[in-house]
Amino acid sequence: MRRILLLILALMPFAGMAQTKLNPSDYIYPIREVAGLYSANFGEMRPGHFHAGIDIKTDGVEGKPLVAVADGYVSRISVQAGGYGRAIYLTLKNGQTAVYGHLSRFRPDIDSLMQADRYRRKSNSVDRWFEADRFLVRQGDLIGYSGNSGSSGGPHLHFELRDTKDQRLRNVVSEGIISPIDSLPPRFMKLHYV
Ligand SMILES: [Zn+2]
Repeated sequence: MRRILLLILALMPFAGMAQTKLNPSDYIYPIREVAGLYSANFGEMRPGHFHAGIDIKTDGVEGKPLVAVADGYVSRISVQAGGYGRAIYLTLKNGQTAVYGHLSRFRPDIDSLMQADRYRRKSNSVDRWFEADRFLVRQGDLIGYSGNSGSSGGPHLHFELRDTKDQRLRNVVSEGIISPIDSLPPRFMKLHYV
């Protein structure tokens, strides 16, 4: 008994650290009508931080339909000049939060709510959180349109998944949620000497 207790105590510090594997079949692709090319991967170094998601190219244009990857609800909308620009957050029933960044516009009912909010507060930036019953979404429902807003160097969708309970980021590529087709062998481009 004592040995079991010691074992439990020894393992306790790791109890909160384990992330359960995501199931790729729980998700559909977050964007429609694109070729499926990518401009940035998860974990790339950026000034002061690392890239928290994957960047899906939108073939040089804005306005590609964005869809809910799984069932859930719209939990947050943010609009800012930099960062993710127009961004939408979905709290999913499966325990994840999906983040879509750099949108051109939200779906019409959310867009008109945002416009009213901006006029009322006489401010361009918006950060609104919603209860679960406000904007329910089913997998595949339209949530908005891709764009180039915020800190974005060209039309693309920034997509990421986080554990809802502690906001820990998931690697959507290594976990098989987004599976880029990549047949090119790696090429040696640059060597940094420190
Ligand atoms: Zn990005």
